[in-house]
Amino acid sequence: MKFSGKNVLITGSSRGIGAEIAKTLAEYGLKVWINYRSKPELADALQNEIQSLGGKAAVIGFDASDEEAFIQAISTIVESDGELAYLVNNAGITNDKLALRMKMEDFTSVLDANLKSCFIGCREALKIMSKQRKGSVVNIASIIGERGNAGQTNYAASKGGMIAMTKSFAYEGASRNVRFNSVTPGFIQTEMTEHLKPEVKDYYLQSIPLGRLGNPREIAESVAFLLSDGASYITGETLKVNGGLYM
Ligand code: NAP
Repeated sequence: MKFSGKNVLITGSSRGIGAEIAKTLAEYGLKVWINYRSKPELADALQNEIQSLGGKAAVIGFDASDEEAFIQAISTIVESDGELAYLVNNAGITNDKLALRMKMEDFTSVLDANLKSCFIGCREALKIMSKQRKGSVVNIASIIGERGNAGQTNYAASKGGMIAMTKSFAYEGASRNVRFNSVTPGFIQTEMTEHLKPEVKDYYLQSIPLGRLGNPREIAESVAFLLSDGASYITGETLKVNGGLYM
C-alpha cells in the first residue's frame, strides 16, 4: 500500500483493535503514535514490539475526550514530525444496560469517550491537514451505529453519530484534499467482546454469514486502505467490516 504521508496518530491504541492498527500501519512504513489513557505499560510494550521489527513508533498518553489534552498531543506530534498525515479515531468504550435502567451518567460517559473524542480529533486534524492541503482520517464506528442493539442505546447513539459526523467532516474537508471515512466493525475478537455471554456469542455466530468473529487485523487492513493513496477518491464512505452480518 502507498502512503504519501509519514505519520499517524491512533487513539486508544494500547490494546485491542487500536494496537493492531498501529502494528499494521508500522509494517506499511508509517511512524505510529500510540495513544493510551490508563495503561502506559501496554503502550510501551507495543512500542518496543514495533521497534524490534524495524518499525517507527512513539507513545503519547492522553484522554481523548479531554479537549485540551487532545489539542496538546496533536501539537506535540506536529512539533516533533513537522506534520500530522493521518489520524485514526479508535478510542471507545461500552457501558451496556437496558434503556429503562440507564442513568444519564451511563449515557453521557459513552457519548464523551466515543463521539466527543472523535469530534475533537476530526476538528483538530482538519485544522492541521487543511494547511497541509492533504490528509486522511478514519473513524472506528460500529455495526451497532448502523442497526442499533438492545442494551446499547448509548453506544448506538455514539457510533451512529460518528458515522453522520464523518460525512459532515468529509464535506468540510474535501476542498482542502482532506478525506474522512468510517469503518464499522461487526463482532471482532477483543477484550470488548470477550465479556459477552456465551449464548449472545452463539447467537451472533449463527447470524454471521462468514461463520466466525472477525480479527483485529481485518479491521486494521481496511483502515490502512482508507488512509492510503489507493483510496484517494474515497471520502464520506462507511466501510462495513462485519462478515456479512449487516449488509
Ligand atoms: P478495547 O479492547 O476495549 O480497547 C479500547 C481502547 O480504547 C483501549 O486502548 C482504551 O485505553 C482506549 N480508550 C478508551 N477510552 C479512551 C479515552 N477516553 N482516551 C484514550 N483512549 C481510550 O476495544 P476494541 O474492541 O479494541 O475497540 C476499539 C474500537 O473499535 C472502539 O471504538 C470500539 O467501539 C470499536 N468497535 C469494536 C468492536 C469489537 O467487536 N471489538 C466492534 C465494533 C466497533 P485504556 O486501556 O487506557 O482504557
